[in-house]
Amino acid sequence: MSLERQRKIVNRVFQRGDVTRADLAQHLDLNAATIVRLVAGLLELGLLKSHAGTSTDRGRPTEILSLNPDAVKAIGLEFSRDHCLLVILNTLGEVTHQASLPVPEFKANKVTLEALIKSLQTAVQKQGIAWSQVLSVGLSLHDIVDANGVWQTHEQPDSPFNVQAYVSERLMRTVVAEDVSRSFAFAEQKKGSGLEQKDMIYVFLGSHGVGSGIFVNGTLLKSSSGVCGELGHIVVEANGDQCHCGSQGCLETVATHQAIEARFDERVKQGVKTVLGPGAKFADICRAAAEGDKPAFLVLDELAQHLGQALAAATNISGAPLIIIGGQLKLAGDGFLRSVETALKRRVIAPLLKNIEVRYAALTPNAGAWGAASMALEKAFESGAVIELLSQKPLGEIQNSVVESV
Ligand SMILES: [Zn+2]
Repeated sequence: MSLERQRKIVNRVFQRGDVTRADLAQHLDLNAATIVRLVAGLLELGLLKSHAGTSTDRGRPTEILSLNPDAVKAIGLEFSRDHCLLVILNTLGEVTHQASLPVPEFKANKVTLEALIKSLQTAVQKQGIAWSQVLSVGLSLHDIVDANGVWQTHEQPDSPFNVQAYVSERLMRTVVAEDVSRSFAFAEQKKGSGLEQKDMIYVFLGSHGVGSGIFVNGTLLKSSSGVCGELGHIVVEANGDQCHCGSQGCLETVATHQAIEARFDERVKQGVKTVLGPGAKFADICRAAAEGDKPAFLVLDELAQHLGQALAAATNISGAPLIIIGGQLKLAGDGFLRSVETALKRRVIAPLLKNIEVRYAALTPNAGAWGAASMALEKAFESGAVIELLSQKPLGEIQNSVVESV
């Protein structure tokens, strides 16, 4: 019973930040003596710390309780075909370290997972962090991750692998495996452009695909199969190009980096003058459009129409009027945002119209790893795993690290 009540206390502190014993007694329906006893145990574990507040209680400063930032570490990893980003968070979810790790073969199997486990353990060790201090691991993965953490790559749709169960069993830690776009959406909603927004759509255009994460009334949507918010397969061009999904004219056929680069090349071949040469990359096209380059502007204006069309369908279905655009599109500047907004407003139903807003994502590229790490940290607090870990921990192992923000 004591563990269950301590779990409630640490979760209250995790959610609220600073609390007093009076706040805990009031919200957790526990008497003052019980709170004093349970909090003393958590202070001894090193999970909580206390300091004198500015207000007073009968002439004495009120004692404030908060989480000890150095009590535990949470690891986050975003793994794709061409990069593997690691972040290490402290108890408060702040990034204390980040690194690029070697990229193993992009396959949902034991060999790849073992390579990832090995390099993350090496990275943790290099930072002088004892493994006994690691509470949780969040894995942000590309392609499809279902609600149970089963991962499936586009190349091998018939070889699903339960990454969450495998890594959790191997490391004996709380593990969350999540889709990369949902990880980014989670991060943007927690501390980025969607801060405290209950209804929002995060959209990301990548080199080969389009991803999204949709919040409705504060909940990040996810189906049991893991397929959710497939914005890339909303048809935006009647009789358009064949999509790999089997349909024709999907957003993904016209909005990936590859598709935009090809469309730009077509304009250049038609003789439209440009500051860029043929074979320009997506980021260069975005920058040139912001500076008024004609073919770059025309190609991105067309993209804004397509994106607005697909997003309007998603907004009408979900009721989420705020759109957060991630990735390199930010380079295209505010003009692109306004074009998407105008295209959206033409198609969104009246009750949503006045709240329509399109913004760029605010966080850096490690936000996907941060999102998954943060989800796993939250899960380890909710389940009480954090108390169990610290109860087993040898004394004198708590490390101090320099704190940076994402
Ligand atoms: Zn498609």
